Amino acid sequence: MSNDKSRHEDFRDSLSTINEKGERNWIYPKKPSGKFYTARNYVSFFLLLILFITPFIKIKGHPIILFNFLNRNFILFVIPFGPHDFHLFVLAMITIIVFIILFTVVFGRIFCGWACPQTIFMEMVFRKIEYWIEGSAKQQKILNLQSWNVNKILKKFSKYTIFYATAFLISNIFLSYIIGIDELIKIISDPPSEHIKGLIGIIAFSGVFYWVFASFREQVCTMVCPYGRLQGVLLDRDSIVITYDNKRGEPRGKIKKEEKQTDKGDCIDCHLCVDVCPTGIDIRNGIQLECVNCTACIDACDYVMVKINKPKGLIKYDSINGVEENKGFKFTARMKSYTLLLVLLISVLGYLLSARTDYSINILRTPGFMFQEQDNNMVSNIYDLNIVNKTFKTLPFSVKLVNIKGSVKIIGSKKDLEPQENYDSKLLVIIPKDEINKINTPIKISVYTGNKLIKELNTSFLASLKKD
Ligand code: SF4
Ligand code: SF4
Repeated sequence: MSNDKSRHEDFRDSLSTINEKGERNWIYPKKPSGKFYTARNYVSFFLLLILFITPFIKIKGHPIILFNFLNRNFILFVIPFGPHDFHLFVLAMITIIVFIILFTVVFGRIFCGWACPQTIFMEMVFRKIEYWIEGSAKQQKILNLQSWNVNKILKKFSKYTIFYATAFLISNIFLSYIIGIDELIKIISDPPSEHIKGLIGIIAFSGVFYWVFASFREQVCTMVCPYGRLQGVLLDRDSIVITYDNKRGEPRGKIKKEEKQTDKGDCIDCHLCVDVCPTGIDIRNGIQLECVNCTACIDACDYVMVKINKPKGLIKYDSINGVEENKGFKFTARMKSYTLLLVLLISVLGYLLSARTDYSINILRTPGFMFQEQDNNMVSNIYDLNIVNKTFKTLPFSVKLVNIKGSVKIIGSKKDLEPQENYDSKLLVIIPKDEINKINTPIKISVYTGNKLIKELNTSFLASLKKD
C-alpha cells in the first residue's frame, strides 16, 4: 500500500466516538435542515403515529397485532397464530431475512435512516427535546463544559426528567405489543401490589430505553446493531448508499474571496457535513460502517452548494460505480438471484397462508395398545386425538365413522373447543367383527363443527380375529 493510500485509510483505524485514551467522544451534531430532513420528519411522524395507535385498535375485541412471547400467542392483522404455526413463523423469518438482504444489497442502509426505531426516537424525539432545552450543538457543548450552576442544574434536570417520561411512554407502548393494551392498563391502574412483576418489568424496560437515548445513543448503531455489522458483507459497488462525489469534490479547499477556483473541486472543506453527522464521521472518506444513511450531510452540503452557486448533489444517494464510472443503476446478477429466491419464498409462504385452516386435527393409533374384543360381537381400537382451534371462537365438535359400520366416541365429556385451545384426548372406534376381513382395515373418521365437516382423516383399524 502506498503512503498516500495508507494515509487516506487512516480514518478506518479509529472510531469518531472514542478518543485515543479509549474514552467516549461525545457527539454534538448540528441540527440538520433541508428537504431530506423535512421529508424524514413527515415519515417519522407517520411511523410514530402508527406505532402509538396500533395497540389501541381492536377488531371484534381483538388487537390487530400482538407478539405475546410469554404465552406463545401471536396475532398478525387479526389472524391468531400459535405454536402450531411454527413452520409458518420459520418460513416468514427466512423470507424477511432474504428481503432485508435484497433490500440492503440494492438500497444500502436506507431502513436505518428512515424507518429504524432507534434512529427515529434518537433523532426525531430525544434529540429534538435536547435542542429545545439545551439549545444548539454549540450551546450544548458550552453547557457541558460549564461548572454546575442553577441554570445547568435546571436544564439537565428538566431534560433528563422529560427523557425518562418519554422512555416510560415508549416502553409501555412496546410492552402493549407483547401483553396487550388491556393487560397493560390493568398493570398501571391496579394497586402496585397486584402486579409487582409487571411493574418491575415496565420500570426496567423504561430504564433501558432511557439509558440508550440519554447516554448510549449512536453506539447502538455503530457497535451493537447486528444489521449495521452486516453492512460490510451486504453492500457492494452497485448498492445505493449516501456517498460523496469525490471526482467532483476533490481536490477540496477553502475558497478565498478573489480566488478563481479553477484548480479545486467543489468541496470547500467547510466541515458542515461532518458537523451535522450524528455518528461523527466524515462521509468524504468514503462509505463507512458507521453511516446510518440519515441524509443530514446531503442537506448540509446542498445548502453549501446553493450558497456558492454550484449544483446540489456533491453528497447524494448513489453507488460507488455510479460515482466513479458515471453508471446508472444496474440490476446485478447478485440482485437477480436474491430476487428469484425472494419471489420463491413469498410464493410458498403465500400458498401456505392461504391454505391455512382454522383447525389442526390429528388422529393416530395409540402406540402399544392392541385391539379389544367387546360385547355384542364387536371389536375396538384406541386412538390419540389432537385438535387445535386456531380461531377466536368457541367451537362445538364431533366425530363420525364414515366408510364402515360401527361407531367412534371421544373419551371424556368435552363438546366445545375454547378459542385457541390445543385439545388432546382419546378416541374409541368400535366395529362389528363381521366387517373385519384382514389385520389392517382402512377406516375414515370425519370431524365436524356443528353440521359442517372440517376434516376427513384416513387411518387404520388393527385386529387379528379367528374366523369360525
Ligand atoms: S458540506 Fe460539502 S462542501 Fe462542505 S465539507 Fe462537506 S462536502 Fe465539502
Ligand atoms: S455520513 Fe451523512 S448520512 Fe451518514 S450518518 Fe453521517 S450525516 Fe448521516
